[in-house]
Amino acid sequence: MSKLALTLVLFTFLFSMLASQAALETKSISGKSFITLRSIKSHYGFLKMSLSENKITLRKDKVKLEFIIGSGLCYMNGLKFSLSSAVKSSGGRYLVSDIDVSTMIDPVLKPTFISTAKSFNTVIIDAGHGGKDAGAVNRLGTEAGYNLKVARTLQAGLKSKGFKVVMTRETDKYLTLGQRVAIANRYPNAIFISIHFNAASNTLAKGIETFVLSPVGVAGYGRGVKSSDYKTRSGNHQDSANIALATAIHGRMKERVDKYKVPDRGIKRARFSVLSGIKNPAILIEGGFMSNPTEAKLIDDKIYQSTIATAIYEGIFRYRGALNAAKR
Ligand SMILES: [Zn+2]
Repeated sequence: MSKLALTLVLFTFLFSMLASQAALETKSISGKSFITLRSIKSHYGFLKMSLSENKITLRKDKVKLEFIIGSGLCYMNGLKFSLSSAVKSSGGRYLVSDIDVSTMIDPVLKPTFISTAKSFNTVIIDAGHGGKDAGAVNRLGTEAGYNLKVARTLQAGLKSKGFKVVMTRETDKYLTLGQRVAIANRYPNAIFISIHFNAASNTLAKGIETFVLSPVGVAGYGRGVKSSDYKTRSGNHQDSANIALATAIHGRMKERVDKYKVPDRGIKRARFSVLSGIKNPAILIEGGFMSNPTEAKLIDDKIYQSTIATAIYEGIFRYRGALNAAKR
């Protein structure tokens, strides 16, 4: 199978071809390296490029890549990704930051690493918080409790399909982040999923989001780049697999929660310590806002909890399907 044909496997198991190897064209602006959008078009073999208002769309067959000019948002097949720099226009060219192309766009559009990625037989499920750390709390319950409910449902589903499942906790007990990492790193052929629900002081905040570890040189969530962001973490050895795993699972979650009108906040990057320390492909999921009255009720509902668990389960199969397709 063509390396480039894997893109859509991550989304839908449909195959598409993005196949040209024209070089990417680099431009430097105040010491930062950018890639021109027209070279992204030819490099990935997109056929059409269209501009409407503030949005640029590249298309080929079933693959669609959209950039919102002046914002740090990019959509790949409708799935939202937060870039580290806004897409800008300069000297008649549209420019995307080099690091976003290499660490976010390329692993999704051209998941070549998948053909060499190790297959996995173990899923490590990390129910966030627990014990003295309840996580977010509202009138209806605690985040630690909800995380565990989703984790248990996912555990049962995966076990019934023959996966080996490791739970970082199965009861309401406290674990440090370091202990979670230590458990995860005992299993070499594994993926790691940390389950959480969000809270914010703004009760209007809503939606699902998924985090992967920030690659080297990309800022942590919600701040500028610091010198420590140039240090390689254990999790950075899985940068490409992390983003592919997030694409497969978050994409499925977005499809599944759509009927509840829970919006998609996208795939984001952060330097959370649990993601930093893990040697296996790892993601952290936030399944909605406990601080939002509407979502609080959903999160307390068994059906919604199992919807999230099912979406993660199906996303795991999607990711595994991409690995298997590459090895055919
Ligand atoms: Zn949490």
